[in-house]
Amino acid sequence: MKDRLPFIAGNWKMNLTIPEAKDLASSIAAASVDLPEAELVIIPPFTSLSEVRKTIAGSSVQLGAQDLFWEDQGAFTGEISAPMLKNAGCQYVVIGHSERRQYFGETDLAVNKKISAALKQGLFPIVCIGETLQERERNETMARVALQLRDGLAGLNGDTLAKVIVAYEPIWAIGTGRTATPGQAEEVHAFIRGELSKKHGNSVAACAIILYGGSVKPSNAYTLCLEKNIDGFLVGGASLEASSFIQISREAIKAYKEQN
Ligand code: PEP
Repeated sequence: MKDRLPFIAGNWKMNLTIPEAKDLASSIAAASVDLPEAELVIIPPFTSLSEVRKTIAGSSVQLGAQDLFWEDQGAFTGEISAPMLKNAGCQYVVIGHSERRQYFGETDLAVNKKISAALKQGLFPIVCIGETLQERERNETMARVALQLRDGLAGLNGDTLAKVIVAYEPIWAIGTGRTATPGQAEEVHAFIRGELSKKHGNSVAACAIILYGGSVKPSNAYTLCLEKNIDGFLVGGASLEASSFIQISREAIKAYKEQN
């Protein structure tokens, strides 16, 4: 039995101008009236945060950002801080997405500092972890994920940890159209919960929100969300279409109802 609502976050990545972002946000906000049984978060690029915030005001849709820098302010050209995101109306921030690790050299140490900076401002970090295809083929998935959890969450205690959302995103499934099977995803999700339990206790682990990400679509959302340890999704490509994001949310709600 799952005792919370499914959590569906849409990562818009480096897409959409401000008017386009407002349009998409407005469609999702309108549809959210019929989706009270899901937690919906949209994650536009920095440039659209302020306008999207106004667009979704009064709806149940919440706002997230795609990254932050760990210092509050200063000479860090091009960076955005946690206080800035808070001030722009964000409740969530994605940290350690595989694209940031891959293209911008983000390490687990950087991820750790960013998580602390987010928590200090009362932002909920959505921390992305996951293995490459080579690691999966070498049977190193659990070792990789354990290391990312250990180093990324280092120094956090039960209270702060309760605010961290983990997104398991196998890199080979991101933007490839190749989704992890429900069994593959559940195996890693159960492992992540087990690791959280070993280090931080059963109650932290039981309450932890663990999302799956990697080519989630309306056609696979239901079976994935039926799995015991899958609490929702971080959706990339399919979140750029209001209809598919909404349908994914409906499928997740249906799966949750079926379980309870
Ligand atoms: C992502 O960017 O986090 C993601 C899961 O992308 P996609 O859904 O496109 O695979």
